[in-house]
Amino acid sequence: MDSKGELNGSRFLVTGASSGIGAAVAVRLSQHGASLVLTGRDEQRLDATLRQLTGGSHTAVTADLAVQRDLTSLMDAAVADGVKLSGFVHCAGIAPMIPAGSLTAAAAEKCMNVNFFALTELVRLISKKKYRAQSGSIVEISSVNSLFPDKCQTIYAASKAAANAAVKAYALELADKGFRINAVLPGAVDTPMTRDAFAIMGSENTDRKLRRQILGLTPPEQIADIVLFLLSPASSAITGQLIRADGGYINF
Ligand code: NAD
Repeated sequence: MDSKGELNGSRFLVTGASSGIGAAVAVRLSQHGASLVLTGRDEQRLDATLRQLTGGSHTAVTADLAVQRDLTSLMDAAVADGVKLSGFVHCAGIAPMIPAGSLTAAAAEKCMNVNFFALTELVRLISKKKYRAQSGSIVEISSVNSLFPDKCQTIYAASKAAANAAVKAYALELADKGFRINAVLPGAVDTPMTRDAFAIMGSENTDRKLRRQILGLTPPEQIADIVLFLLSPASSAITGQLIRADGGYINF
């Protein structure tokens, strides 16, 4: 994008900002004028992202997104100075790989809490005038695995598929409030989450997976560019969409 100031004066919350896609999103949005509230569980890692940002009007708030009361405190902190949110990017997530015969309700709940219920809770809160600006945009980082799961991804794929459905439903209601919402569905992105998954999968399965992704492993900065577009006025006609950014994950 040519313009560097298309998010000037807009405040966005970025979850999972201490690592991977969330950190890359935060860096990119700050380069384009956004004022950011970063959140994650680890203060030191959040501060490391904070130091990489352009501009000075950013804050970091530690919160565990699996804990509902933390989300209300987070939103209160995000608007404490009177500037309301123009949206958020939900990057925090976990990707457990659990065989069908071992998937307990407790493990499923843990995954749903971060990947799905944090999304519903953040949308519930930002629907309130107390937290939201006059207009805005929300991005959910889903996954291409919501459409094409790998083995042992039952709950991960289900949590992201639930988010996809929610995005479409939310778009209908949020439009009345001047907000848009879209999901980005990455394939394999070069982040700590992927490196952990590849270590579990082993080299043969990793090679097979990467062969499907014809453009190769996606740098997190490329996902951040798509998020930037979806938050900016350039995408004003786009809402309720599931946007695959999967490096051409078509070669099954
Ligand atoms: P990552 O592990 O590098 O980052 C995930 C972040 O979420 C971390 O900062 C982690 O601390 C945070 N998080 C996890 N549980 C949390 C909790 N309870 N409270 C607060 N924060 C919590 O992973 P990433 O690759 O950057 O993934 C970001 C998002 O992108 C995830 O939702 C993931 O499912 C999705 N995604 C990733 C890939 C990939 O290949 N890496 C592909 C498709 C989708």
